[in-house]
Amino acid sequence: MKRRFLMTPGPSPVPLFVRESLSQEMMHHRTSEFKEILKKAHEGLKSIFCTENPVLVLSSSGTGAMEASVSNLFSKEDKVLAIGGGKFGERWAEIAKAFGLNVIEMNVGWGTAPSPDELTKILDDNKDIKAVLTTLCETSTATVFDVEKIAKITNEKDILLVVDAISGLGQDVLLTDQWGVDVVVSGSQKGLMLPPGLSFISLSRRAQNAIATSNLPKYYFDLKKALKSHANDDTPYTSAVSLIVGLATALEAIKKEGLEVRWKKFSKMAEATREAAKALGLETFSQSPSDSVTAIVSPENIKSSDIVKILRGEYGLSIAGGQADFKDKIFRIAHMGWISDKDLIECFLLLEKVLGGLGYEFEQGISKLRLEEVLYG
Ligand SMILES: *Cc1c(COP(=O)(O)O)cnc(C)c1O
Repeated sequence: MKRRFLMTPGPSPVPLFVRESLSQEMMHHRTSEFKEILKKAHEGLKSIFCTENPVLVLSSSGTGAMEASVSNLFSKEDKVLAIGGGKFGERWAEIAKAFGLNVIEMNVGWGTAPSPDELTKILDDNKDIKAVLTTLCETSTATVFDVEKIAKITNEKDILLVVDAISGLGQDVLLTDQWGVDVVVSGSQKGLMLPPGLSFISLSRRAQNAIATSNLPKYYFDLKKALKSHANDDTPYTSAVSLIVGLATALEAIKKEGLEVRWKKFSKMAEATREAAKALGLETFSQSPSDSVTAIVSPENIKSSDIVKILRGEYGLSIAGGQADFKDKIFRIAHMGWISDKDLIECFLLLEKVLGGLGYEFEQGISKLRLEEVLYG
């Protein structure tokens, strides 16, 4: 039996102190004991989302919160702009189309971030666009988008901004209120050190007003009901009790360490990852690299899917391959949540073994040296 270790951009490792809190004996969700815990979780979410607005907890993976934001903010045939450039940006367009919205797609090349000028032009040419749907960290390409700049543009034009921060939250800086982001969605299994199963959604005053007039069909993910329950530290239907107990524990630990300390830590780990790749003679993929995950271009003649397969099969270490056209071209290493500098060093040690075994030539041990220089130098 091999120990499993995840360095994938979701799910990511769950620390023992969180797993212990997940395994507590079941409590009923309509009790003051549970409400206290949910209240703590609600407060903790506000601080990691950097907002004073409510952050709702839904029982679903992250995509559920993406869908809930579309079905609750808009009405039939509303025009929205979805920014593509990877698998998850494309998901925004797919969801909006599924709900019958009039979707304009702004597609940027995979591995690049949207240009503010191009965004401004599209919005100027389409004055009836009601919202921009975009991504903080486009996980499929390991690219961070300049949400602050995008928010500046949407605020000048009084357009809603909806941001998928499912993988980015906790690593890539996101100042929701300060930048004026209306809606931020996230999930439990990436930067928050929890298993999959919870999603989160923050709603500005402007977003709450949009919800009041939306006419799209919804039932379980009716955010009007969820907001009403949230005000009493409650959920409309049975709460995901164990996951919420774990959430409160994880958020407390993040608060204790400090969000800004963590941002710096992951930024350093991301830089170290890029530098270690470079030391091995490998290129990184993104023009605007994220602090949550790094995409590395596989050496010529070596399929990245083989690297991923061997790491998992031989060593129990999971990293992610590429998606769509880049399936065999890139591999992705996450540095989020509970993943540490030591894990990163171990990952490159094994990566060197696998690359060497596949006939790739480099100076043995060089990635560890470079990692340590950046991390501790
Ligand atoms: C993981 C991820 C999602 C999808 O989340 P699920 O929890 O699998 O539904 C959406 N967007 C981004 C940016 C992601 O990283």
